[in-house]
Amino acid sequence: MFIDSHCHLFYDDFKNDITDVITRANDAGVQYFIVPATNHETAKQAIMLAEQYPSIFVSVGFHPLDLKEFSTERLALIEGMIAHPKVIAIGEIGIDYFYDTSPREYQKEIFSFQIELAIRKNLPIIVHTRDSVQDAVDIVIRYAKSYPEWRIEGKRGVFHCFTGDAAQAKALFDSKFLVSFPGPVTFKKSTMPNLIKEIGIENIMVETDSPYLTPVPFRGKRNEPSYIPLIAQKIAETLDISIDEVARITTANAIKLFALPIA
Ligand SMILES: [Zn+2]
Ligand SMILES: [Zn+2]
Repeated sequence: MFIDSHCHLFYDDFKNDITDVITRANDAGVQYFIVPATNHETAKQAIMLAEQYPSIFVSVGFHPLDLKEFSTERLALIEGMIAHPKVIAIGEIGIDYFYDTSPREYQKEIFSFQIELAIRKNLPIIVHTRDSVQDAVDIVIRYAKSYPEWRIEGKRGVFHCFTGDAAQAKALFDSKFLVSFPGPVTFKKSTMPNLIKEIGIENIMVETDSPYLTPVPFRGKRNEPSYIPLIAQKIAETLDISIDEVARITTANAIKLFALPIA
């Protein structure tokens, strides 16, 4: 059994065939889906999906590229959604220096606000970075050190689509964070396989980031959770272990991180 630890199933891309998408994923062994919202509106949409499908869980928060949507009133709306039983994390939150749609200092401030919300609610975080891994690592590690009681029994969060180096990954692992890898791990020129060899499988998860980042051989088409085994297979080959082992460990990691109420 696999868990897709990051897929945006609320986007219009899936509007017409979401039930088929979920059925195809289940047929491919992908049993559960973590759907990260990007602002207060998509949080509502994600929660509606989770109410419809028992296999969907949701994170709520403001994505760094959606900060034009941010206000303290809307953050209060997000905070109100946390009581919903299908909301299992704060995310996706973070900093993005590639598109730079908001000033960097402002991105860091809102990222920090939302980490503080996660700490108050004792929830894990789903972190987005682009060209900003070191700054995000510094911020989360500072919080982890300041709040040792934050998820003392579990893990604190995941850096999704991890593009940092082995030293950054290990610093995250030491502070009880995980990293996850998407479809580009299957690309010919990807540096992710070498990184995975260095950091091992113990603290990693798999994700599609659907509808983006489609793995080979479907690159260029819409991504969907049924492609998770393609990513897992590449990781299995990279580490010279079985795909079942990849499934077992990455699934256990997701269940533990998000404290999923499943057997
Ligand atoms: Zn992201
Ligand atoms: Zn995402």
